[in-house]
Formats: sequence, structure tokens, C-alpha cells
Amino acid sequence: MTNNLLITALLPHPPIIIPDIGKDRIADAQATVDSMKEISTQIVGLNPDTIVIVTPHSIYTKDTFTFYTQQELTTSFANFGAPQVQFSVENDFDFLKALDKQIKDRKDLPKIGGIKPGTPLDHGSGVPLYYLIQAGYKGKVVVLNYCALSIKEHIEFGKLLKQTMAQCDKKFAFIASGDLSHKLIESAPAGFHPDGKTFDKIFEESIKQGDYKNIVNMDDFIRKNAGECAYNSMMMAIGVLNETSDKNKVFSYEGPFGVGYLVATL
Ligand SMILES: [Zn+2]
Repeated sequence: MTNNLLITALLPHPPIIIPDIGKDRIADAQATVDSMKEISTQIVGLNPDTIVIVTPHSIYTKDTFTFYTQQELTTSFANFGAPQVQFSVENDFDFLKALDKQIKDRKDLPKIGGIKPGTPLDHGSGVPLYYLIQAGYKGKVVVLNYCALSIKEHIEFGKLLKQTMAQCDKKFAFIASGDLSHKLIESAPAGFHPDGKTFDKIFEESIKQGDYKNIVNMDDFIRKNAGECAYNSMMMAIGVLNETSDKNKVFSYEGPFGVGYLVATL
């Protein structure tokens, strides 16, 4: 199988790091802003034809991985007070067709579903895309939402995405979009829980070491108490990587508003 996956990254998606939304407060997340710029420049410099992004915040279902299926994918930050921040990218139908064919051939795989055409991209995909486009990205994009299936099923689906990439005659980058614990400090919007810091530490240390066992095997209650949206995205990235690290590097970690933002290649 050819390896045409150039890079895999875990990126946060706080709308506050978009200048028109964050305004003065963006300075409090400067480390994240700087590393999003740096990592986006690195990804775009590799010249992928298509970036596949898994997001938590579009259409979330019990058992179906959902995909955007319209040709043009458009962001919307109107909910965050910035309707003027809008851009479009082109979907990759070659990849979607190849994936569809694989799923049809195998009855053991989870279901995939199309997101209603016309649905704007969520901020989980929109914020990383904002930085990638600022860095000069002009290629295609595939966006899917993870679901409520098990850890194992997310890893397996990641492997299927990798196999699908290998069948396409082009180069890919994979982005796992997610924020870590939403409960790092008393003033966090989701409140405080001490397991929040534990959750974030396990992610940061595991990625630094390039060994994701401790993330996969994390106690379920830590994950639940932490209040996070990165876990299933990370499981899919681990599947895409076939459970081995490749270019693991933590660019930055901070939680200035009580939510953990980790920027890393995996
Ligand atoms: Zn989120």
C-alpha cells in the first residue's frame, strides 16, 4: 500500500483565535495562535491535494459517521458574531466515492451518512481551515463528523480512511480537530473538575513520547469528567496512523479560558 498520507495533526478549534472574533482577547491565546500559524505553514508546505478533517461539532449521531457531500464547502462564523469571516473550499468527490465503494463492499463497517447539502461547515472544521487558508492552502477538503460508536470502531474507521487514501492517486493530510478538557479552572464555562488537568496531561505527554497507548487505555471516568471534544477525533487519527507515531511534536499547549488547546503533529 502506498503511503500518500503526508502528515497527521491534532488541532484545537476555539473561534476566539480568529482575530475578528477574539479581538483583544486573542492575546491571551497567543501561543495557540502562533503554533496554528506555524503548523499550518508546515502542512501547506507539504503540498497535500486534499486535507481530511474530522470534527466533533457538525452532525453527531449514535452510529453513523457523517460527511459533507456538496461540492462547495462554506464556513459560517455568524453564530460567533463574525458573519464577515467566510470562505469556501472544494470537496473531494474522488475520495468520497472511493470511501463509499469500500463501505459497500464490506458489511462489517459502520454506516456513513451525508450531511444535508447547504449545511455550513461547523467551527470544528472552520477554525483549522481558517489558519490553513491563511497559510495559502488551495487544495480540496473532506470534512466528516465522528459519532458515538466505541473507541475501537473509531480507530478502525481511521484505518479505513487511510486505506481509502491509499486508493486515491493524490497526497493527503489528516486533521483531528478537538479541544481538550473544558474544565481546567473554576471560571471555565463548563465548571471545574480536577480530572481535566489529568486528561490534558495524558494527551500532551503521550504525544511528546509518540506513544498513544495511555490515551487509548485512559479510564473512561477521566474522559467523562474532563469534558472534552478531542478524544474520538484522536482515536481516528490513531487509526489513520495505524497506531504508530510518525512526526509527533507538541507545538503548544495552554488553557487560558479553562479549555485545553493542544497543537501537535502526530
Ligand atoms: Zn469542541
